Order: sequence, then C-alpha cells, then structure tokens
Amino acid sequence: MKVAIIGCGQLARMLALAGIPRGLQFCFVALPGEDPAPVEGLGEVVVWYGEEAVALYRRLGEPDRFTPEREQLPLGLLQGLNRLAPVYPSPESVAICQHRQREKSYINGLGLPTAPWQSVDAQTHWATLGTQLGWPLFVKSCEQGYDGKNQWRLSDEEAPAPPLNGEQAYLAEGGIAFERELSLIAVRSSGGEMAFYPLTENQHHQGILRCSLAPASALPEGMQERAEQMATRLLEAMEYVGVLTLELFEVAGELVINELAPRVHNSGHWTQSGSATCQFENHLRAITGLPLGSTQAHSPSAMVNLLGVHPPRPELCPNAKVHWYNKALREGRKQGHLNLTASDTHQLQQQAQALLEQLYPQEAGAE
Ligand code: ATP
Ligand code: MG
Ligand code: MG
Repeated sequence: MKVAIIGCGQLARMLALAGIPRGLQFCFVALPGEDPAPVEGLGEVVVWYGEEAVALYRRLGEPDRFTPEREQLPLGLLQGLNRLAPVYPSPESVAICQHRQREKSYINGLGLPTAPWQSVDAQTHWATLGTQLGWPLFVKSCEQGYDGKNQWRLSDEEAPAPPLNGEQAYLAEGGIAFERELSLIAVRSSGGEMAFYPLTENQHHQGILRCSLAPASALPEGMQERAEQMATRLLEAMEYVGVLTLELFEVAGELVINELAPRVHNSGHWTQSGSATCQFENHLRAITGLPLGSTQAHSPSAMVNLLGVHPPRPELCPNAKVHWYNKALREGRKQGHLNLTASDTHQLQQQAQALLEQLYPQEAGAE
C-alpha cells in the first residue's frame, strides 16, 4: 500500500519512518517553496504547482491513501484528491480544525468547553471585551497560526491594540488561569475503533512546546476518562479517521479545550519510546484500516524539543533517544527532539530538567 503524505516536514518524516518497517510505501507532496529535506530518502517528493488533483495523483503514482501533515492546506486540493483515493482525516475534518472560529463553534456545538471567545476586528473595543471575556485577552488569527504566531496577549485595558488587518478573520479569548497544560492523543480507525494515549503534561516557552511528560503526574480522579469522553464525542461527530490531538487546559480539576490538531502532534512524540505503538504507527494503522496497536505507556517518558540547538554530545545524554529532523539550523526552530524513559517519574523529571539546563543554559530551567 502506498501512502501519500501532504507536506514534507518532521511529522511526514516520522510517519514514514514508522511505516516503512511495516511494508508501507510513501511519497510526499511538497508545497511550492517547501524544503523537503526532512523526508529525503524516504520516498518520491512531488511538488504541487497548483495543478488539478488528478494530475498530481498521477504524478504521485496513484497512491492508495492521502494524509495531510498539517492543517493549513488548500481545501480544494484535499477535496479533489479525496475523489481519487481516501484523504484521512477527511477534508471536512481538516476544514474544521484549520479555522479557529469554525473549530471553537464546532466544539461548543457538541457541548464541550473552550475559553469564552468572540470574533473581533480592528474596530473592536478591547477594554469592553476584556471586561466581558476576562483579562488577559488572547487575540488570535483564525488561520495560519502556530507556535504562538499571529497571536497577541493583551494583559489589561492599557495594552496596545493588536495590529489586525482587514483581510483576515480573528477571534479573542478570555485568558484561562490554568494549573497546567495537558494534551490527549486520540486515534480512530476507518473501521470506527478508538484508542487514547495517557494524558501528557506540556511545558511551553514563548508559545512553543519545549518539554512533555507522560503519563501526566497526579491527575485528578477521573480526568483521563473525562478527556477520553471529550475526544470520543469529537471523533464520532466528525467520523474522524487518524490521530486527533486535543490541547487542553487543566483548571480547578476540570478540562477546557484550547485547540485541536487534526494530526500527529509534538506532544505525542514520547510515544516513540514510551509506548508499545507510537502515535505515527497508530495513525498509519487507522488510515490503512488495520486494528489499532496498544496505547499503553510502558514507562514514564519525557520529550525535550531541540529548538534551534543541536543535541548534546552523546556521552552527556546516554539514555536519550535522538530524533533529528534534517533541517537547516535556525534560531528557535524545531530541529529535533530527545526522548527519555525512566523507571520512576521523579528520576525522569530530574533527567529532563538536567537536559533542559544543558540545552538552554541562558534560561533557568523549563519556564
Ligand atoms: P500551536 O503551535 O500549539 O498550534 P498556536 O499558535 O495555535 O499553537 P495556541 O495553542 O492557541 O497557539 O496558544 C499557544 C499557547 O498560548 C497555549 O499553549 C497557552 O500556553 C497560551 N494560551 C493560548 N490561549 C490561551 C487562553 N485562552 N488562556 C490562557 N493561555 C492561553
Ligand atoms: Mg494551533
Ligand atoms: Mg496550541
């Protein structure tokens, strides 16, 4: 079976690396200007120049499945390809998740909680809105936002107005005073089978994920089950196929959904070392109609992102598994990650902390 991945970044790379040992073949669609270095040597790369889906499908050698590596893709292309071979997750699912307002309306429509939010534009009176939704206000573009880009935090009524332009849609959310950030990696196969990984605890630095710990420590009673119920509601409503990630805030013992990612996720990279079946393999099983693999964590795991830095010398991190994405070094860029496992959580946290201090000595620890 041949899987065409739309996108050539590290997620495409790790999907292929998980699927090749299972006998799957891969090819990749590069968007104009995209550097395919992360998928070099893993399958043919075809650049999409904007031609009709059928022409692209032929140039790719008529793959059996398509899977988008990211949510910001042209819907017309996904719909066109879906008439030739299944696109999983479906273009409809991607459409929901690629637009924040659509996504939040959809989540709330299923009775699931998000931060209070409202559409905004350059005319919005921020002081009034902040009083209604709660300070700080997070103003976000509805599309093309990731790693905290196209996003502004207004701490109070004194904050300068965000530089919104007339061409894009935006929304504002009330700030959630969360205790911590969690995520749930969920997966549903084309046959309707579902599985969920243990909740993961995530630490961000300047809007970018830096470290994940799994399973999340000291979870309130029933929280894993509540997260799985939320995910089930979403997966079934969308008739979703593949991995879906829920980014969550834990606040006063409850869960609030921050956003969804219709794909494998950075906060699920620990599953490469800490689980019998990694998120990449389960995504491929889901989209090719195979039974899902076990999502149990076999040991406490940590993932540390390499943001604009090389991995430490091997002798300094003998227990870490290095995943390097083959991308040119650039400040703050996700170049790779390290996975760690340990027999107990305390030991793991100490090792992860030591690594963070080595990698980012200019900052004190993970904050
Ligand atoms: P990603 O790279 O995860 O796609 P993104 O650019 O889509 O990021 P968000 O996930 O919406 O951005 O926000 C980035 C971070 O900002 C969150 O992980 C959280 O730390 C903080 N944040 C965003 N919205 C809120 C909110 N309403 N209340 C509190 N913190 C928030
Ligand atoms: Mg996002
Ligand atoms: Mg996010």
